[in-house]
This record gives sequence, structure tokens and C-alpha cells, in this order.
Amino acid sequence: MGEKYDQLVAHLSEIEDLDRAGSILGWDQQVNMPPGGAMARARQLSTLAKLSHEMFTDDKTAKLLDDAERETDGMPYDSNEASLIRVVKEDYAERTRLPAAYVAEFTRVTAEAHEVWVHARANNDFAHFRPTLERIVDLVIQAAEYLGYKDHPYDALINRFERGMTTARVKEIFDGHKPRLVSLISAVTEHAERVSDAVLHQDYNADQQRAFGLDMVKRFGYDMQRGQQSVSVHPFCTTFSRDDVRITTRFDSKWLNPALFGMMHEAGHAMYEQGVGAFLEGTPLAGGTSLGVHESQSRMWENIVGRSRGFWMWAFPFLKQYFPTQLEGVDAESFYKAINKVERSFIRVEADEATYNLHIMVRFELETGVVSGKIEVADLAREWNDRFESYLGVVPPSDALGVLQDVHWSSGLMGYFPTYALGNLLSVQYYNRALKDHPSIPDEIAQGKFDTLLHWLNENIHQYGRKFTSDELTRRVTGESIQSNDFIAYLEGKFGDIYGL
Ligand code: ZN
Repeated sequence: MGEKYDQLVAHLSEIEDLDRAGSILGWDQQVNMPPGGAMARARQLSTLAKLSHEMFTDDKTAKLLDDAERETDGMPYDSNEASLIRVVKEDYAERTRLPAAYVAEFTRVTAEAHEVWVHARANNDFAHFRPTLERIVDLVIQAAEYLGYKDHPYDALINRFERGMTTARVKEIFDGHKPRLVSLISAVTEHAERVSDAVLHQDYNADQQRAFGLDMVKRFGYDMQRGQQSVSVHPFCTTFSRDDVRITTRFDSKWLNPALFGMMHEAGHAMYEQGVGAFLEGTPLAGGTSLGVHESQSRMWENIVGRSRGFWMWAFPFLKQYFPTQLEGVDAESFYKAINKVERSFIRVEADEATYNLHIMVRFELETGVVSGKIEVADLAREWNDRFESYLGVVPPSDALGVLQDVHWSSGLMGYFPTYALGNLLSVQYYNRALKDHPSIPDEIAQGKFDTLLHWLNENIHQYGRKFTSDELTRRVTGESIQSNDFIAYLEGKFGDIYGL
């Protein structure tokens, strides 16, 4: 390529190196670091973040972008060069719109907010968190003004995680499947006694859980020559390069689900990152394109594969070898039903496939409400509980199990939640497209073969990294934009069958 383009790539890859070094420090902090290391680590992370931010928002980046753009003029939209310039220009615009003083204030307020939230949740005391949350909401609204939007301030916020997505579109998608979700869940819970998950709540040795889970995700195709699994309090996936993508897991020795499905989930994220084209390595295009698309990958492996009947017809005998006493007299079919039990629960991260999106809809309505000034922070707990009652038919017995449960708001993350639900919708749309190309996939899964599906994902989604936005990618892959029909039809089919509706 041209001289200026090469200079741009070299400049960006140095920034990328700083960011990835920060990721290593962050991973170490959650996996290995003794508590005494916290202060120094916070300083080291903030130094790296500051250097990276300064290098990226420097005029040098703008100049190189302009020069390289001229040099690559006329190259096809989907070429690596045109894509890199297009995506980085948007990143640059976004990051230079927030003044340094604002970023510093936001960082300070949210850093302090974490402890306030932890305390409020532990004491079930929303009033304690309220003034801090009011300050955060003010800052978030300010960010929306700096970033700019057409119709709704929330557009600016969601755009940071799902480029091009708007509040109106999310509302349309959510309203499009909420009534069918609500009626599916009430039909299912009328027959709650048809499925028992007692078998999952027994003593399950953590080392055995780990061995089985790792065996499964390796068979999915998580490449352990370029990956690793460790233990942390909050499970996550982190990327240092496409050839070093790590996951973490949390084990509960009395409950089989969190570690097993958590490993499948994080491995789904990791296989996306491992599958990014080698030609994008070291550039800002190496990585998943949006949180929604990322979540589509984790949810596909966790739910569509990992919670499918076919998968367990094959995998259950292996699981039984690991836990012969716990699973004595249990057959694959009843195990399959147990892991798919639907419950009107209060906690999002423990929610089943059927109720999950309703948890997100509650948060979306509240976030758009406070950002537009239609809902006061002071009223959030009541607004939360009202919605829970109308969508899920239950009222959280405490704010700790309600409005205070998630860490996101204390970190100033508003506009993030919808991507979880969008990921669920995309997972089914992509999977259905893969089935059209390869109708043999379900039979292969039932024989413990996953490579046709993984290669299809590599080919159609992973390799492109951030080249295309979520919507561009979804249109290329499925011929249409994100929609909820496939998802709701999948849920109605699956749970209608399990509950004999
Ligand atoms: Zn995830």
C-alpha cells in the first residue's frame, strides 16, 4: 500500500499495543493479582489509557487519516484499506468529541460510584445510591450532547456499542416481540411443574466441572494453542491478539449451570476473536464489530448449541462419566429439560432464554426514560418494580434483587443493555442462515461435530472483524436487518415442546 497508509497503520498498531498491554494488566488484576496490588495497578492502567488516548486523539492521527484517505481513494468499500479508514475516522470523531475535562470528571465520578453502589446493594438501600446515580445520569446526558444525535439523546449512547442503532429501532424491535414473550412465559409457568431442575442443584466438584466444560469448549473449536481458561469472580473473555484470546470462569460447587454454560458463553466470544482474519491483526479492525454481534456468538454456543436436545443426546453420557452419583437414574431428556427450566426470576444474569429479553426491556425503558427526563432517578425503584410485575408477573422483594442488581449504571454504562437482547435475536438469525447453507448442522451437533457451524461463522462473520457495522454484516449474511421473528419462533417452538403446550 501507499506510504501514508502504511504510516497510519504503524501509528495505529502502536496504540493498539498500548491498549492490549492494558488488557493484560486488567486480566491479571482479576485473575492473579494479590489485593495489595490494587493501587499501583489502577495507576498503571490509567497511565496506559492516558497514553493511548493522547496518541489516538492527536492531530497526527487526523492528518494521517486524511493523507491515507487520499492515497486510497477509489478502493472498494469492503477492501481492508477503505474499511480501516472508514472505521477509524468514526472512532476518531467519537473520541475527540468528548472534552478531556469531561472524561476526567466522568472517570472520577464512576470510580467513586462503584463503592457507593456496592454498599447500597449490600444494604438494600437505593436512597444511598440515588445522589450518585443522579450525578451519573447528568454526565451521561452531557455525553449524549457532546456526541450528538438526531432524534433521541439515547441514540448517541447506544451508538457507542452498536454503531448505527437507534432508540426508535430498538423500541420497534422490542415492542415487536414483547407481547408474544409475555404470553409464552405465562403459558409456560402455568405448567411449571412439568420441568424440575433439582438435579442441577447438588454437590458438583469444581475440578470435575472444569474438566468437562473444557472438554466441551475444545470440541466446539476453542483453540487452546491460542487460548486459556482461568478463574475469576466475574467471568469474561479478553483478547491480547487473535492468537491469544483468554476466558475466565466462576465455579459454584453446588450448582452445575454457571460454570458449564458460562464457559460455553465465553468460548463463543473467544472463537469470534480467534476467527478474525489474520490480515487484520494489530489493526483497530481486529476484534468483534459490536457488542450485539459479539453476544450473538456467545449466545449461539451457549444456548442454541449448548442448551439443545441434540447436543445433550450426545454429551450427556460424557457428563455422566464425570458425575456418576449425581446423575444416577437421570436420562438425557430430563436433563435437557432441567437445563431449560423457565422461571420468573429477578436476576438478569441467571435468567433463562425465554425470560431474558424481558429483563433487558425493563432496563431499556428506564434508561431512555431517565435520559430524556421522563423518569426521575428518585422513581427508578418503583418504575422498575411496576414493569417487572406487568412483564414477568412478579415484584422483586428488595431493591438489591431489583434496581440495584447490575454494576452497569454505577460505571456510567447506559445504552449498553439493549445489545444483550439484540445479540439473542441475531444469534437465531445467523444460525437459521447457517442451517439454510448446511441443513446437516443439527445432526452433526447430535454427533458431537461442530466444525461445519464454526467454519460457517469464521467465513461469514468472524473473519471481517470490525470491517462492517452490525447492520451491514447482518444484511450481508442473512439478506435482511435485525428482526425478532426468528427469535420468538425459536423460543415458542423450543419451550412449547419442552412444556407440552
Ligand atoms: Zn457475553
